[in-house]
Amino acid sequence: MSAENCLFCRIGRGEVPSKKVFEDDSVLAFHDIHPAAPVHFLIIPKSHVDSLLTSGPEHEAVLGKMVALAPRLAKEQGCDNGFRLVINNGPDGGQEVDHLHIHILGGPRPWKRL
Ligand code: AMP
Ligand code: ZN
Repeated sequence: MSAENCLFCRIGRGEVPSKKVFEDDSVLAFHDIHPAAPVHFLIIPKSHVDSLLTSGPEHEAVLGKMVALAPRLAKEQGCDNGFRLVINNGPDGGQEVDHLHIHILGGPRPWKRL
């Protein structure tokens, strides 16, 4: 997948619209188009990485930033009683968009468990 055609790269560059939750120079958070929970947004690195399978030590900083951002953004989105992070990796991991992303899921239960 080239960064040119990658859907989430295009969202990161603002070429495809998204409902933004947070943005800075290296990461973007936006609402999932098909929410699986009352609160469901994604955090992506702006720079293309396929998945954790192809990530390396050079991604440690941005991955740490993405995870560290999650509680703050989750609370801002109304997750005042907990939330969950999911990262799907590769075909057997159920990954559909081949640009690394963290799902943040929350809101009142019940919603689907793993
Ligand atoms: P995954 O299966 O982990 O690759 O998840 C991909 C997620 O991206 C799914 O939950 C989709 O609903 C979501 N998605 C796909 N296209 C868009 C889009 N244009 N804007 C926001 N979310 C999207
Ligand atoms: Zn990409």
